[in-house]
This record gives sequence, structure tokens and C-alpha cells, in this order.
Amino acid sequence: MHLLHYFLFSFSSIHEYQEALNEGTFSCRETVSFYLERIHRMGHLNAFVHLYEKESLQTADKLDAERRAGKKTGRLHGVVIGLKDVICYKDHPTTAGSYILEGFQSLYHATAVERLIQEGAIIIGHLNCDEFAMGSSNENSIYGRVRNALDPEKVPGGSSGGSAVAVQASLCMVSLGSDTGGSVRQPADFCGVIGLKPTYGRISRYGLIAYASSFDQIGIFGRNIEDIALILETIAGFDPRDATSSRRPVPSYIESLTLKAQRLTPNSQRSAVNGRRIAVLKEALEHPSLDPEIRVKLRDFIGDLRSKGYQVKEISFDLLDFIVPAYYILTTAEASSNLSRFDGVRYGHRTSDPDSGFPEFYQETRSEGFGKEVKRRILLGTFVLSAGYYEAYFSKAQKVRRILTERTKLIFNEFDIILSPTVPTTAFKSGEKSSDPVAMYLADLYTVYANLVGIPGISLPLFTHTNGMPFGIQAMTNQFRELSLLQFSNELMQQFKSYEIPTL
Ligand code: GLN
Repeated sequence: MHLLHYFLFSFSSIHEYQEALNEGTFSCRETVSFYLERIHRMGHLNAFVHLYEKESLQTADKLDAERRAGKKTGRLHGVVIGLKDVICYKDHPTTAGSYILEGFQSLYHATAVERLIQEGAIIIGHLNCDEFAMGSSNENSIYGRVRNALDPEKVPGGSSGGSAVAVQASLCMVSLGSDTGGSVRQPADFCGVIGLKPTYGRISRYGLIAYASSFDQIGIFGRNIEDIALILETIAGFDPRDATSSRRPVPSYIESLTLKAQRLTPNSQRSAVNGRRIAVLKEALEHPSLDPEIRVKLRDFIGDLRSKGYQVKEISFDLLDFIVPAYYILTTAEASSNLSRFDGVRYGHRTSDPDSGFPEFYQETRSEGFGKEVKRRILLGTFVLSAGYYEAYFSKAQKVRRILTERTKLIFNEFDIILSPTVPTTAFKSGEKSSDPVAMYLADLYTVYANLVGIPGISLPLFTHTNGMPFGIQAMTNQFRELSLLQFSNELMQQFKSYEIPTL
């Protein structure tokens, strides 16, 4: 790449980037080189665990040649994307941040990846994460911790910490993560970027390494709503290989967003604003673990919303305290079952003493291969499913989930949007919560709700704390209302954004 281009290249949106490609301002090769150089320079962030240097340059050359030859280009032509290390990319390592998957290469593409590639995206590498997506700080990875680019002593959040930092530090344009209880929205909040978790079943989970199958969903990190909408539109939709993927047609998110923006005259904007009913969960704002400054700023924000004509009502939600316990019972139960497949027989790490006999062979392989947090959750999950405790824990948590689902239906009979904080605090110092799992689990207070009831949620980086760190607000809608969620998010990003995502 010409030296000048390093200074000239900057990414603001996929649309503008593709215009620049078409005008010949940049090529895909130059763009990939730009990102590769940054990834190397920012190696201390530890965001990438596998980098596909040669291959992404080759793909860039192929795309450049096709474009120059006047061939029809895909919707994600030249878009540089990173994948969380739990999303399968054929013939590439996918290790879930775990020693137990050491050396494993995926035999197939995740459906989401296949759809990205079909539209001309360039997969630049796999991103660091908490082992098997279990964690809230990205400190549970075999590859070491990820650093928050705004303050390397602080965590980026988890479990998709690498995916959040990659977008935060401009190491790729957009990235995919997974969200079982907040792993996209929470790191997005800590890093000051946008993070969307769609409705359960909106994106196929085929090729996503399972943590808790009735909660897991692929999510998207980006710098603006349009990009998120475009990626969602590309990867969402029914997949015969995932029986839980929805058959509902995928709306044209991106077209509706851009059309709506064009149509927004002051009058129509007023009616859109007035027509939308927003609920704020009172107990969420009053929760003692919420940082006082975040509480004040969110209250001010609600006041601003009202003064712009939005209908916002605080509603009581007395189930908040049941959410984290129910989540950790149900997800660990599902994890204990899902992770039983890692036994050293078919793939991944195998104990060096394969003659140890059964069941010792499994015990040794799994004891060596899994990290501490994963072991803790397998044990907890096995315990809550065990004959003597099933009723006391697992069944009760299932009941809580059902009650939550019913309550949520009632809320959405009256409201279109639920607003809450994304996380109780801003990014904390590395090591601060590692010895206290319960304190760590509480960081998920506001995010696990959407996974328990399967609704979409987004974290929008609207605010800056006086400690210098960004924080977001979480918006949620009823199931499959991503379009309305994205439209609302776009309005908020345009009208209330006081935090600028830095081009580091
Ligand atoms: N922090 C939560 C957990 O550890 C969420 C993880 C996730 O969404 N993958 O379970």
C-alpha cells in the first residue's frame, strides 16, 4: 500500500467504503493491508487469536479483479470482518478459546459465515473470547486476556471481548460475536461500540459452538446502525440445518432504515416519536449495583427523550432479582450437556496417556483441556440436573423463565420498546472480579433477561462517564421486531449521541 493511504484510509460505513472502492479511491487489497498493519501494531490488545493474512489478501485480489472487470459485486463486497473464535470457518482453526479444541480445524462453515462469504466479505481472522463463551471480562481464555483499547488495564467485557475490541480499535469493519446472556451487548457497552443480539432463532446457530442452546444467538458489532442492519439482513433467515431457526421472512432492514431517514420531515418525525411507547424498568434503574453516575445520566436521558416528545413510562418489574440465578442454573445445565462431546476421542486435545483406560481417559482429557470457569459450570450444571436437586433448581428456574416470558408478553401488549442500562458499571480493572464469580455474574444483571425470553436487544454507546470510559443504553423489543429496534436505535444515535467512537 502506498504510504499515503495509511493516513488517508478511514472507515465510517460500509456504504461509503464501497463507494470509495467503486470510485477507485482504494482497493480491497489496500484496505486489507491497512487492517493487517493495524492488527500487528495493536498486538498488545490480544484481540485476534488466528489471523488469515495471506488468504485475506488473496480474497481481496480476487474481489478487486472482479470489480474492475465490471462483474456484479456482492452486498458485502470487500467488507473486512472478524469472527469470534466460536464460529466455524471451514478449514480454519476454531477453538472457543479452549485448550480442549487445540488443533481443531472446522470441517464446514457456520451458516452465517457462508452467507457473509457469498456476499463478498473478507474474513480476516478469528477473535479472542472467554473459553466456550463463558465469562464477562474475557479473562478466561487460553490465549490470555484481551485489553480494552481505551484503557489497557481494563477489561473489554466478555465473552466476545476480542470482537468488541476489534471494532473499537479499527482492526476490522464489523465483527460477529455470540450472545448467550449478554456477550455481545456487555462488551459493546464496555468498549463504546454498538452490539446487537437478535431474536432467538433469527440467525442460524449452525456452526456456532454451543454453550447453552436455548439461549445462544450470533450477534453483531459495528460502528453504525446501517452496517449492523446490512450484516443482519445478510446472515438472518431460515436454515434447514438449524431446526430452531425461524422461517419468518427477513425484512429489508437496510432499505427501511434509509427510506425512513429520507422521509423524516420534522412532522413525520414527530408522529413517529409520539407513536412509540417506551417502558423503562424501574427496578433496573433503582438497583443498588447500578453505578450512581450511570443512574443519573440515564434519568437525564429519559427526561431528554420526554422533552423530545417520546412517550416514556417507568414500569415496575419485580422479577429482576430472579433473572441472574435462573440464567446461571439453566445455562450451566445446558452447558454440562453440550460440552460432554469434548472427550478427546474424535477431535481436539487428548490426554498424553491414551492407555489410561475408561473412564480415566475422559477424566484426564477433560481435566487437562477445560479451564477453571468451564469446569465450575459443568459441575454446577450437572448438580442442578442431578436426580436429588432437579426439582429444587432446574425445574424452578424453568418456571421463572416461563413467568418472565408471560410478563414480557404483557409489557409488549402496552409498549414497543423496553429501555434499561446495559451493564451496572463501566469497564472494570482486569483481575478485579476474577476471584469472585458471583460479583462477575452480577455484571450480567441487565442483559440475561433478553436471552431468557428470546427477545432482541441492542447496546448503543451514547454516554461517557467522568472516569473517561464509555457506557451504553440497552433497547429491547418484542421478538422479531428488529426493524423497529434498528429504526429506534438510529434515531437515538442521531439525536443523543454524546460519545464519539474514536478512530484510534
Ligand atoms: N457473561 C455471561 C456468562 O458468562 C454471558 C456469556 C455469553 O453471553 N456468552 O454466561
